[in-house]
Amino acid sequence: MTEDINVSLSNHLIRDDEQEDLCFAFYKASTGNQRITALINEVIFPEIDDRNIHGNVSFNPDYFDKATSYALKNEYGIVFIHSHPFPGWQRMSTDDIEAETMLAPRVKAITGLPVVGMTIGSDGTWSARFWEKTASKTYDIKWCETVRVVGNGLNIHYNENLKPKPKFGQEFSRTISSWGPSKQESISRMKVGIVGMGSVGSIIAEALLRTGIENLVFIDFDTIERKNLDRLLAASEKDIGKFKVDFQKNRLFDVNLRKGLDIEALPYSITEKTGLEAALDCDLLFSCVDMPLPRFTLDGIAYSNFIPVIDGGIDTNPNSDLSNIEQARWKAHTVGPQRICMQCLGQYTPSDVSLEQSGELDNPYYIKGLPKDHFVNRGENVFGFSLSLAGMEIQQFLSMVLQPKGIYYGPKEMDFNFGNIDFDFENSCEKDCHIKAQLGQGDSFNKILLFDHPNAEKSRNKIQEPTMPKVKKANPKTSSGKDSIIKKAIRKLKNLFDDSKGTFPF
Ligand SMILES: [Zn+2]
Ligand SMILES: [Zn+2]
Repeated sequence: MTEDINVSLSNHLIRDDEQEDLCFAFYKASTGNQRITALINEVIFPEIDDRNIHGNVSFNPDYFDKATSYALKNEYGIVFIHSHPFPGWQRMSTDDIEAETMLAPRVKAITGLPVVGMTIGSDGTWSARFWEKTASKTYDIKWCETVRVVGNGLNIHYNENLKPKPKFGQEFSRTISSWGPSKQESISRMKVGIVGMGSVGSIIAEALLRTGIENLVFIDFDTIERKNLDRLLAASEKDIGKFKVDFQKNRLFDVNLRKGLDIEALPYSITEKTGLEAALDCDLLFSCVDMPLPRFTLDGIAYSNFIPVIDGGIDTNPNSDLSNIEQARWKAHTVGPQRICMQCLGQYTPSDVSLEQSGELDNPYYIKGLPKDHFVNRGENVFGFSLSLAGMEIQQFLSMVLQPKGIYYGPKEMDFNFGNIDFDFENSCEKDCHIKAQLGQGDSFNKILLFDHPNAEKSRNKIQEPTMPKVKKANPKTSSGKDSIIKKAIRKLKNLFDDSKGTFPF
């Protein structure tokens, strides 16, 4: 849920008189490869007559009817939420189980989606469960691993049974002495994805490992080339030809810092099903890509799935006689609910996205005709700048999860010539922003983010089969019915951007 929804729910449910209270909320599903998330979109608070507050709170049938008809109208799933006067992740009382057992078949029959039960403790800690139909007339509790609250900060509430606190040895004593054990336990259990394993991505991977993150996902279809050796952390001549994701994964395992380390290395584009679904399993993503289409995809993921994305970009060029650098700037920002999106920040334009989508950028004659300052011609960068940008992105990450003294960052930009960091940026979207409009839409928007990626396929075909990780077979619908899915996606994208200031000339 977003921070805004968390605040309004907490205000209603955690009562001064210490009585329990309840309400219904509405969700859309976000389906990753291994994780299903219920994204809370809206809440319908009870009127006075809608529930009885007497020790164990209960609701009146009219309130349930109101909730189900609203859910039906808007294609929502239903969340039943109540409070307990105790702190921490809450288990269920016999009454709770009885109430939700009664709701499960009715909600499933009406909405087609499992009811989600949630409980908030007196300290604001959330717990949640899905009620899954396992046989005819049988519904079982499937406890959630986490409840995530996303906005200016990222607060994750962990189910200690499914995600127990990790233990740390001497190798983390100095990190833990900086921010204490409970922050470390929280950070280490996150699942973080890095999209783009080039110069910036490889430094971020290193930093996340040494910050104690145990679950990492690397997404990049590129292989290491000779021209990468001046910027790719730890790569040497003998690594040329390897997938960047495999190389970094193996290298980080060699450090042997955490026994529970789990890294998924995926040689895919974020616009392909395997890449997108793996990203939807993450709690937070780093965008280390430099093309408009993956940026647009990541921007969409952030808002439609409540997954914050930390993005950065470097813009540098030499002077006209190549006697020195003319200017260099790099910028780091976090996008997602309650923050400005990449499009409003000017990190890509819809017309650049459609240009990349058209395939013209693979045509050398087309590229030749583009102006020098076109984004495809802006490839200059050096390791020292990447290092600084990766540092700024890691600071965005730490600021978001630690929020020292309740402070959070907006976008920040480094001006190399003057050595200044500018932080005077807007941090909210324009009113008619099309990305923000996808907030909490989950799978219905994710579908239109899927595209075939011929260059990624080409890159994978170069590499021998045995080094490829085992991944779930693509949905037959996407492989056999390629055209129709792409056409559908394009149609939807077109509708999305039709009246925007940019154009998608499909
Ligand atoms: Zn209860
Ligand atoms: Zn926006």
